[in-house]
Amino acid sequence: MTEVNKVLVVGGGIGGLCAAIALRRQGVAVDLVELKSDWTVYGVGIIQQSNVVREMARLGVLDRYLGAAYAFEDVGIYDLQGNPLARIPGQRLAGPQYPANVGISRLALHQVLSSTAIELGAQVRLGLSVESFEQDADGVDVTFTDASTGRYALLVGADGVYSKIRGMLFGDTYRPRFTGQAVWRYNFARDPSIDHLASYMGPGGNAGLVPLSDNLMYLFSTSHEPENPWYEQAQLADLMRDRIANVGGLVGTLREQITDSTKVVYKPMEVVFVDEPWFKGRVLLIGDAAHATTPHLGQGAGMAIEDALVLSMELAGEGSLQAKLERFMARRFERCKFISEKSVLAGDREMARDQTFDRIGLTKQMLKLTAEPI
Ligand SMILES: Cc1cc2nc3c(=O)[nH]c(=O)nc-3n(C[C@H](O)[C@H](O)[C@H](O)COP(=O)(O)OP(=O)(O)OC[C@H]3O[C@@H](n4cnc5c(N)ncnc54)[C@H](O)[C@@H]3O)c2cc1C
Repeated sequence: MTEVNKVLVVGGGIGGLCAAIALRRQGVAVDLVELKSDWTVYGVGIIQQSNVVREMARLGVLDRYLGAAYAFEDVGIYDLQGNPLARIPGQRLAGPQYPANVGISRLALHQVLSSTAIELGAQVRLGLSVESFEQDADGVDVTFTDASTGRYALLVGADGVYSKIRGMLFGDTYRPRFTGQAVWRYNFARDPSIDHLASYMGPGGNAGLVPLSDNLMYLFSTSHEPENPWYEQAQLADLMRDRIANVGGLVGTLREQITDSTKVVYKPMEVVFVDEPWFKGRVLLIGDAAHATTPHLGQGAGMAIEDALVLSMELAGEGSLQAKLERFMARRFERCKFISEKSVLAGDREMARDQTFDRIGLTKQMLKLTAEPI
């Protein structure tokens, strides 16, 4: 048992739930508060690469996770007309018997993680946040928004890109920034040819097809949206078709089936990076609260999951809490900084229509880095 025997996790997203699971497996008492009373998750799916599959094994959820996901090996890179350009082979980091990569619906991932956290004894309260906290040398006294209180050895802010806990630690120093791009997503019945991640790249656009299950896949596309416009829901299908008008191949065939605006998931890209230790005393930020980036490298959630595992490992180690959190930072800062900065760079080069930018080279660099142990 470590000196950190009771932790409050704020935010029941991917990072917060993985922290709760990893800490419960070490016998640490965990309270988790989540703002949303219905605990819904934002639509469509997510790509999870080989480092995530490896860490799901370490979290002890791999079989359940794979049961809810679509496993695949390679990433195919195509030009905007669908002609193959390169094939990036998968890396089986969890072991030879496990797949390299997966696509998984966000809802399915949430169900795997939330049910595991609850089964392991995390005490989850919904529709709740932190109103205020005060810390002393031995703990953090928390007042919740329903006026209840608790005392914890550590408070983990895993409350996403608009983190309230980040504001309580650093004031207005770090505010999310719109990068100039947005992502459009739409679900389709899986085409048999999409048994891998198919990425369509060109100076004039970027789109991809991601398998989520035997009969489901999603199409995503990034677009330049200067000034971050507000679109009425009813316009979204027309707009999404317009944004991928120059993409051919299978994407071009699917384009005309994008007719239901209520099923288009549109998301402006917002980023933030905390450029100093992500903790003060006994309050720490993980995941998007500390380092939200764009989806260009498909690693945002991967970094949140790795944060959760490294935190649990360091808390179980020797030394004062300060020393443990400093070791956590030493293991996480540069890795997350690389992913954050290079993801933003890929988007910037897309907006600049830079034909010389080596996107495939960057993807290979990212895969090499994330294959290294956490
Ligand atoms: C369009 C898009 C596509 C993406 N695709 C990928 C991908 O393919 N692969 C990948 O790895 N990553 C991807 N990401 C990134 C990934 O979604 C995030 O990095 C990941 O969700 C971060 O997890 P988190 O737990 O830190 O934050 P979140 O998932 O945002 O969870 C935060 C949780 O905290 C709750 N909360 C917020 N405020 C409070 C509060 N005050 N009190 C209590 N609870 C609160 C929220 O309701 C939420 O449940 C993508 C992101 C976007 C925008």
